[in-house]
Amino acid sequence: MRAIVVGGGIGGLATARGLGRQGWDVTVLERRPDLSQVGAGISLWPNAMRALHHLGVGDAVERAGGRIHGGGLRAWDGRPLSRVRLPEPPVVLHRADLHEILLDRLPATVHTGHHVTGVAGVEALDADLIVGADGIGSAVRAAYAPQVRIRDSGQVSWRAVVRGDVDGGGETIGPKGWRFGYAPTGPGTVYWYAAAPGPPRAGAPAEQLAELTGALAGWHDPIPRLLAATAPGQLSHHPLLDLHPVAPMRFGTRVALVGDAAHAMTPNLGQGACQALEDAVTLALLLPKGAPVSVALEVYDQQRRPRVAAVARRSWQVGRLAGARGRLTGAMVRTLFRLTPDRVTVAAAERVAAWTPDDVRIPAAVRPAAARR
Ligand SMILES: Cc1cc2nc3c(=O)[nH]c(=O)nc-3n(C[C@H](O)[C@H](O)[C@H](O)COP(=O)(O)OP(=O)(O)OC[C@H]3O[C@@H](n4cnc5c(N)ncnc54)[C@H](O)[C@@H]3O)c2cc1C
Repeated sequence: MRAIVVGGGIGGLATARGLGRQGWDVTVLERRPDLSQVGAGISLWPNAMRALHHLGVGDAVERAGGRIHGGGLRAWDGRPLSRVRLPEPPVVLHRADLHEILLDRLPATVHTGHHVTGVAGVEALDADLIVGADGIGSAVRAAYAPQVRIRDSGQVSWRAVVRGDVDGGGETIGPKGWRFGYAPTGPGTVYWYAAAPGPPRAGAPAEQLAELTGALAGWHDPIPRLLAATAPGQLSHHPLLDLHPVAPMRFGTRVALVGDAAHAMTPNLGQGACQALEDAVTLALLLPKGAPVSVALEVYDQQRRPRVAAVARRSWQVGRLAGARGRLTGAMVRTLFRLTPDRVTVAAAERVAAWTPDDVRIPAAVRPAAARR
């Protein structure tokens, strides 16, 4: 059984790992000339870590990253708004390290410089299973679900991984809809991100860094210190987008979507890649060698779409709240966060992060014919 995975990002590589372990002959087609990753850090919640352990790379990811201990929400002047101590804190690491780990001994062939385009390009792929893992601008999705639109939240983000030390991590909200978060990615390195309302900035990275330094001057330690440790060339700058509605996750009898291709979400819950990893493990579990692909894809869509739609919706809502820019609404939001009991915040985070591979329901109809006899 031959599978083609379009896209060599986190979702595509995890899917290739999962299907390869199930005995599929997998080829990954990536449009870029190589698979090296830039970008900054990424937080992986317990649901993602369980998926990575299932794929056999969880220990390597834990060794490469740091943990967000003592996370919580603060106001810009350092006042705690909530203290969130999760039993299993998220792991934070550099995206390039995650990619390298997923690529290590990948049970698949990878072709770089291969750009898949249009329905004809997808249909011409010679495989029993085609997985679109080609990100928010997915050509595979566009071929079958052109109605799914990219939605702009009206907010932008900056991210960097810099040298430095921090005590724990967390997120801070301040005036005019500005937010800042940070976490150690290991000894001596820190991942930070900032978000603010407005369009993508056209200025050079040095001008953007100057804007950040000005907007966040006077915010509590370590925020100014982390900005001072950042070189303009280290900044990644992106608009915050999602897909609305999330896309169907299968088309016809042999095409599925994973990750941002189906459900790009705003990063307010840090769940986009975590959900892509859940997709990858679910798809692989539903497709042991010899399983009826068409039935398995139907079950995959039924099990994944409601979950990812709910997470994406919640992420969008959190962004609207935390990014409120008016003086009065901003103050009200900070008060709301302060008055929300910590156990409610923890319970909400735990609900999203509670997924395990054991949650995948494998109906008799998707078991390989031999096993059903
Ligand atoms: C600011 C920000 C912060 C984030 N923080 C977090 C976080 O902390 N935790 C978390 O879980 N998630 C986070 N996310 C979300 C996360 O980055 C994405 O959900 C994740 O990277 C999606 O992976 P993917 O493999 O589905 O897509 P992508 O990473 O977009 O990969 C798609 C791949 O497909 C290739 N490709 C595209 N089109 C084609 C084509 N036509 N033919 C062949 N190849 C193609 C691309 O080159 C790329 O390599 C964040 C996102 C943003 C914007």
